[in-house]
Amino acid sequence: MNKQSIYGLTLEQLTAWLAQYGHKKFRAAQVWDWLYRKRVTNFSEMSDVNQDCIELLAEHFAITTMSEHVKQESADGTIKFLFKLQDGNLIETVLMRHKYGLSVCVTTQVGCNIGCSFCASGLLAKSRDLSSGEIVEQIMQVQLHLDEAKQDEKVSHVVVMGIGEPFDNFNNLVDFLNVIKDHKGLAIGPRRITVSTSGLADKIYEFTDMNLQVNLAISLHAPNNELRTRIMKINRAIPIEKLMQAIQYYLDKTKRRVTMEYILLKDVNDRKEHALELVDLIRDMRDLASVNLIPYNPVDEHSQYQRSEQQSVREFYDILKQHGINSSVRLEHGTDIDAACGQLRSKQIRVS
Ligand code: SF4
Repeated sequence: MNKQSIYGLTLEQLTAWLAQYGHKKFRAAQVWDWLYRKRVTNFSEMSDVNQDCIELLAEHFAITTMSEHVKQESADGTIKFLFKLQDGNLIETVLMRHKYGLSVCVTTQVGCNIGCSFCASGLLAKSRDLSSGEIVEQIMQVQLHLDEAKQDEKVSHVVVMGIGEPFDNFNNLVDFLNVIKDHKGLAIGPRRITVSTSGLADKIYEFTDMNLQVNLAISLHAPNNELRTRIMKINRAIPIEKLMQAIQYYLDKTKRRVTMEYILLKDVNDRKEHALELVDLIRDMRDLASVNLIPYNPVDEHSQYQRSEQQSVREFYDILKQHGINSSVRLEHGTDIDAACGQLRSKQIRVS
């Protein structure tokens, strides 16, 4: 039987689990240190932990549960990993190099049911949620890869923007966030973590109330219901008005910034009138909301969409700026590899 990864337990959960077997609190702290600071991949390497405890852990947990299946490295240093899970499923994780540090984009589900029409993963329906351990392990696998290179590099930022809708796997997402934030472990500051949702409004309220201090991004992609429903099926169930109310609640309660992700599709949502409509939609929240424009990365699976002309991207950006909306155009990473979300995985599944 496959064992679950110990990375899925928060420090509190690990402490409580060990306490059931009579182990004191300091034992959990020792194990935690071996996992996240010394980063061993075998329980037997935890040299100051007593043998009983090591045997107990090894009986119930694994440390690593996934293996590297494919790795693609881009000229700009972006690395795309395809990991094979214990059940044979494949998931993608991406390491990106920025001026401000190293960020990792993690996957939260095997496949996705949201059905965004521009996304390679939208073609592969969700077969299951990832466990919290499998989400944490993606970061650890990347960190172990960096450790091997001995350049003293550390994952500093995390974006939950890979395959899957993180709010559709809410409890595991929250455990994952609590593990990677823990200051005795990976200690990734909450302000360096961003969770992106397609707009599950109920979960935005729940997420807000948990006060996790991590950043929120919304995959908006269109300024009106007609267009958004065409691009993202989810908008039929959760229309823009409902989504905007939830975002307003988040802003009022947290006073934190929210990023609206907007993928630019040529002649679909990239015209001047769309930019003006977007201004109207977020005008009242512009002190805290910013727009991240993402030039579309063409994927073979969705030939109906093309990349916007540079001129259209510029004009769209200028209109937002002129109306006082904080905006940026996303820098691209890994354009020479299968960089679009889900592209590498869907290619591998097609050839296998
Ligand atoms: S863009 Fe994200 S939410 Fe939409 S189908 Fe792809 S993986 Fe799912």
